[in-house]
Amino acid sequence: MDQKPLSLFETVQARLDEVAGMLDLEPGIHAILRQPMRELQVGIPVRMDDGQAKVFTGFRVQHNNARGPFKGGIRFHPDETIDTIRTLAAWMTWKCAIVDIPFGGGKGGIICNPKQMSSGELERLSRGYINAIWQFIGPGSDIPAPDVYTNPQIMAWMMDEYSRLKGCNTPAVITGKPLALGGSLGRGDATARGGMFTIEEASRHLGIDLSTATVAVQGYGNAGSYIAILMHDILGSKIVAVSDSKGGIYNKRGLDPHQVWQHKMETGSVINFSQAENISNDQLLELEVDVLCPSALESSITRGNASKIRAKIVAELANGPTTPEADEVLYHNGVFVIPDFLCNAGGVTVSYFEWVQNIYNYYWDEDKVHHRLNEKMTRAFQAVLSESLKRKVSMRLAGYIVAVARVAEAIRLRGWA
Ligand code: GLU
Repeated sequence: MDQKPLSLFETVQARLDEVAGMLDLEPGIHAILRQPMRELQVGIPVRMDDGQAKVFTGFRVQHNNARGPFKGGIRFHPDETIDTIRTLAAWMTWKCAIVDIPFGGGKGGIICNPKQMSSGELERLSRGYINAIWQFIGPGSDIPAPDVYTNPQIMAWMMDEYSRLKGCNTPAVITGKPLALGGSLGRGDATARGGMFTIEEASRHLGIDLSTATVAVQGYGNAGSYIAILMHDILGSKIVAVSDSKGGIYNKRGLDPHQVWQHKMETGSVINFSQAENISNDQLLELEVDVLCPSALESSITRGNASKIRAKIVAELANGPTTPEADEVLYHNGVFVIPDFLCNAGGVTVSYFEWVQNIYNYYWDEDKVHHRLNEKMTRAFQAVLSESLKRKVSMRLAGYIVAVARVAEAIRLRGWA
């Protein structure tokens, strides 16, 4: 009989089981980490522009808070499922532990298609979501943030709604806010900038010169567009290909990522850019480049295409871009993977800085944010690299080992198991 394929969350549990064995984890702690501590599913009635009410389904999954309040973004996506949110919540627990910030992991999502909604509808949906979950979030309990298809404006509405319900201005309830409402300098490009710091560390380790390196970027949203811009502007790397959900573009002499962004703003996509040829997303993944940055959604590198990947470094700016089978193939082919919960942890790290600034009500300049982000990312990278060299395992497995050990210690000290 055919075995039912594992759900995304089951693959995360399987990885945890493996690490629990390696760390000789107490069964009680292992059991706590295997499932989320709380899951909310809510119906959100929204008055649409045509006058009709429509009910949206929203989720907030709180995976673990042994190290501090639950922390993690909110996604607006038509294909959202509780299984994906559950998985992403667990990854946030590991991510916050790897960069050693005092948070646990959570994630939220609403099944909706924001591209087909007006600004008024999005505002009512955002406020409705907070109305449904506000008793379960707060600066000391659970702090949401932006993720796929959510942005600073949405965070502003959510923060305002929460503050209204509490009767008290509470910026620290949510991060990724606009600057005028307590956002942090440096939060906009933080995911990509943090990723760039890990790419620099990996390149030093592998002996790759990034000033002459070629780069392909899959996805041109908040993570992808900024990594292209930062690596081009700061490191002098050559961005040979980028893509979005409509397809990709390639120019072996290099693209100007600013002009590509301009083109995407004008036309809605990176494709049909005058100084490049159109390619497919699959072709982009298979290019012979030094650095490949999957920066779109989950599961884009699969068993089907992993063996064709020729990049030296895969820097996972997206969450979960590589399936477990693909991960094995990349490892055996000697591709150096900077795993998602390390590579893209810059976003939540600057979210932490934002939360600290909100609580102090005192704001840092951009240099300080960049400097502290660099420190955190470099330290995290070195901790994972040394574990990977010591145990002769992939960077992903090493990351799990570092993270699970840190969360387990907090659980032990709290006396939960
Ligand atoms: N959504 C981002 C992530 O997956 C940021 C989360 C946060 O800032 O809390 O890491």
